[in-house]
Amino acid sequence: MERPILIIEDNEQNLYLFSFILRKHGYEVICAREGREGIELAHRNVPRLILLDIQLPVMDGFTVAEELKKDPLLKDVAVVAITSYAMAGDRERILSAGCSAYLEKPINPETFMAQIECFLKGDRHGQNTHRG
Ligand code: MN
Repeated sequence: MERPILIIEDNEQNLYLFSFILRKHGYEVICAREGREGIELAHRNVPRLILLDIQLPVMDGFTVAEELKKDPLLKDVAVVAITSYAMAGDRERILSAGCSAYLEKPINPETFMAQIECFLKGDRHGQNTHRG
């Protein structure tokens, strides 16, 4: 059975949009609305990809990414940050926290799936493209 994609996102509209697009393309999706729950779901399911909102309540996405990367089960799982405020310093912080790449909100529904499929393939060119 294919492993799911995990979305950690506290905004219901974004969560709905991301999961709708992914499910429409045949992916199984699991969701968490805050970081601790996301870390637990990741450990239990070893998702094929993790989409991680940076602005989360209680534990921010930088901290969540660092925690995810400490889990030996998750060392090969790509974490893609989703952020609405990727200023220069944030980009570096996102990547140094262990994320492979980031997408900026609002996402473009037309290109979202192509970007996700690049991340799923571990496509370096795609990742570099979306690093901005
Ligand atoms: Mn948020």
